Amino acid sequence: MDIVHIASEFAPIAKVGGLGDVTHGLCKALVKQGHRVTLFLPKYSSIDFQQVENLQIVKKEFAITEKKAQIFTTFWSGTYEGIALIFVEPHHPKAYFEREGIYGEEDDNERFLFFCKVSARYLDNNPPDVIHLHDWMTAAAALFLKNGAKKIFTIHNLQHQGRCAPNNLKNLGIEIEEEILSDYQYGESLNLMRGAFAKCDVITTVSPSYREEILTQEYGQGLERDLVKYRKKLKGILNGIDPEYWNPEQDRFLPTPYSIEEVTKGKAANKAYVQKHLSLSQNPEKPLVIAITRLVWQKGPDLILFGIEKTLELGGQFALLGTIFEPDLIESFAPYKDHPDVAIRLDYDEPLSHALYGAGDMLLMPSIFEPCGLAQMIAMHYGTLPLVRKTGGLRDTVHEEENGFLFEVPDNKGVASVLERAFASFGTEKWQEMIQRAMRSDFSWEKSAAKYLELYQS
Ligand code: ADP
Repeated sequence: MDIVHIASEFAPIAKVGGLGDVTHGLCKALVKQGHRVTLFLPKYSSIDFQQVENLQIVKKEFAITEKKAQIFTTFWSGTYEGIALIFVEPHHPKAYFEREGIYGEEDDNERFLFFCKVSARYLDNNPPDVIHLHDWMTAAAALFLKNGAKKIFTIHNLQHQGRCAPNNLKNLGIEIEEEILSDYQYGESLNLMRGAFAKCDVITTVSPSYREEILTQEYGQGLERDLVKYRKKLKGILNGIDPEYWNPEQDRFLPTPYSIEEVTKGKAANKAYVQKHLSLSQNPEKPLVIAITRLVWQKGPDLILFGIEKTLELGGQFALLGTIFEPDLIESFAPYKDHPDVAIRLDYDEPLSHALYGAGDMLLMPSIFEPCGLAQMIAMHYGTLPLVRKTGGLRDTVHEEENGFLFEVPDNKGVASVLERAFASFGTEKWQEMIQRAMRSDFSWEKSAAKYLELYQS
């Protein structure tokens, strides 16, 4: 099949969170199964193009009209692990993708709407069999596409829906169909995700449990009525992780790589490295709890803070690697700056994340909601047992006292109970068995990619 993905992230060259890992992992698995896979990505100036092979211009001066002015775009092609990439470079006066980061700009709506429109126009001239869109950033492509390709929309996170002003769409010449685009909560805005739900042939979520949850008011983020209406075309497919990239035996970022058989020795060496590197007290006996996360409401930063306190009370160490989006949170973690048993790194640090997965004994993930979650699966591959809230993809991947520990209510009591249970089990024979089971879990993309293929072909 000829499959095109339009996405805002692709790991490792353009990654903010799990979305980048997912587009990479899914495309790679589809290529392995013999399909022609192309991914459209904005040509962010932050991309390290050394990692991309055969980079060349495929189309110059592709014109589209915005507010009666012609804007030109250059399309570049390249490959990464056999996946064809198309980098979209609009020569817009606002230099849409020549920014420091990927998101968080005031004109994010405009930037991604433009990317959607120009990609859709390009694809209308060269239609594939399937076009797969991901989250609000590419939802609008469903409105612009005019070719006969099958359209799939994946909800990676329902919290961000692409609310924009009608003018944003009018400027790009799109007719506004209020019925499918107006926002329930903010009447004056349009909602791009709603539009994609209506226009796509299939909607998917990234875990079966999240599919069920978003049909309810508690998790539906105001879109539950639509989702119930479209439930027949709504499917839940669990994400995978890339077993080659996240392999503790051959991980170029891991100070001491290790196999399942050598896990105890390997983890001890990595713990010693992390303790030294992060200026933690050098104590091999202390259980090391890690958290590797975007620090946003969804991920329960308050519960992580409480988890640090509880870990200290139980005699453990805590290492947090968190990306900050809300500057107020920096203050909350400041008191631990010089603590001998707490390390806080408020940064995005890929190599350190690998060292932590390799060194940790437990990963705390107290999510308020979790569409799938990759960190818990990665942790399991590295023999770090996940301590998670029973929600979404966490519910689908972590099983009590088999490969991790769960708690139901997202409050301090829940976090305390899960840490107490894990610490009571730490170091026992059962703990070792759980590590073995967790490391042998099959989270590879093959199964999930086969399920997507069924949808593509149906
Ligand atoms: P989300 O996509 O909601 O951020 P996931 O658990 O699905 O959460 O995926 C998070 C991915 O991003 C994992 O690969 C995790 O290791 C990585 N990650 C999150 N925060 C950081 C960070 N501060 N530094 C390095 N990697 C991070």
